[in-house]
Amino acid sequence: MKILVQKFGGTSVATPERREMVIQKILKAREKGYKCVVVVSAMGRKGDTYATDTLINLVKAQNSYVSLRELDLLMSCGEVISSAVMACSLINKGVKAAALTGAQAGIITDDTFGNAEVLRVEPFRILEYLEEDYIPVVAGFQGVTEKGDITTLSRGGSDFTASILGEALGAEAIEIYTDVDGIMTADPRIVQDARIIDKINYNEVFQMAEQGAKVIHPRAVEVAMRANIPLIIKNTMSDHPGTIIGNYNELVYSSAEGGRLITAIAHVTDRAQFQIELGSEDDRLENEIFDQLSKNHISIDLINVFPGKLVFTVDENKSQQLEQLLNRYSLRYNVYHNCGIVSVIGQRMRGVPGVMARVVKALSRENIRILQTSDSHSTISCLIKNDDIKKAVIALHNEFNLSER
Ligand code: ADP
Ligand code: ASP
Ligand code: MG
Repeated sequence: MKILVQKFGGTSVATPERREMVIQKILKAREKGYKCVVVVSAMGRKGDTYATDTLINLVKAQNSYVSLRELDLLMSCGEVISSAVMACSLINKGVKAAALTGAQAGIITDDTFGNAEVLRVEPFRILEYLEEDYIPVVAGFQGVTEKGDITTLSRGGSDFTASILGEALGAEAIEIYTDVDGIMTADPRIVQDARIIDKINYNEVFQMAEQGAKVIHPRAVEVAMRANIPLIIKNTMSDHPGTIIGNYNELVYSSAEGGRLITAIAHVTDRAQFQIELGSEDDRLENEIFDQLSKNHISIDLINVFPGKLVFTVDENKSQQLEQLLNRYSLRYNVYHNCGIVSVIGQRMRGVPGVMARVVKALSRENIRILQTSDSHSTISCLIKNDDIKKAVIALHNEFNLSER
């Protein structure tokens, strides 16, 4: 069976007109002989009636404490509604379709509510439907624990659902349909002349996603890479061929794309930097803090460990929880709020001298103060103020001539 997973994001399923475009994409794939498995996100974005943020607001607006288990059940409804609506639209076109929740699709997770780990996929019902020529329309972003509790897979997690199903079903490709023509050299909402990248490696996209490029979820890239299935980013509203993500090392290196040191700029806002004085150079306290961070699901980055001192950043919405935790240990610390991280990404920068110097110069020309940096083989990240993010992304995009073909 030639299986194709097609995932449609929130804006793609937001209105009847958009859902009609979605149906055309599905029917075209069927004409090419594919058995399609459709994954949908909740309909619309912030402010729309059934969007995830609207559902979250139903409980957050009036409760100071929201239980994560109940929040997951509530958030999962957005995708459930969307899958039923989409399946009904298909059925009314005379196409056999069946809506499935994540649980019905066999996505079994642990009980880390809000960011559940997928333990395994049991796609029997999907396979049964495919055998009978139905189009399964799966609610993205969710799974179920062994006990039967509904979980979610972290924000933006419908992409992950698509990849995890693609892997379990041995799909030929996973298509992610969104509101842009593909992966671009920077967020087009910030850089007007950002360019579409035709072909790109899993690794680089993973870095981009990890550093905040919202266009794809990092876990979706990880799974597609593990399964070696091409991941294709496309626009529901256009016929652009999109971006193909695969193992393109040689191909990319021999093409125009390959000559570039830097592939893309990514950014993330609303980070808080913590500088913690440990008081002594005893690593027991340091280990205890890292353990607590992991137990409390507080993810950190830009981590610098010095003798007697720890520096790292967290998402702004975790900073209060972290402060409470540090206060329990009576630790001295400083918090710097309203920060953001801008990153330059490119696997060709490995071992090439002078990239950091160009980053620093480009930012200082714009009077942007760098608060902290970190680098890996393929990424250089700088912590700066939130207010400087736009200027920084544009400056670095220009510095590395990323809009040029
Ligand atoms: P969906 O609801 O379809 O999942 P998302 O909002 O999650 O859509 O992702 C698409 C958005 O990602 C685009 O509208 C774009 O603004 C943003 N984005 C950020 N960085 C990039 C990038 N490098 N390339 C393309 N889009 C990007
Ligand atoms: N609806 C969920 C979110 O907004 C999942 C997704 O769109 O992928 O995070
Ligand atoms: Mg998304």
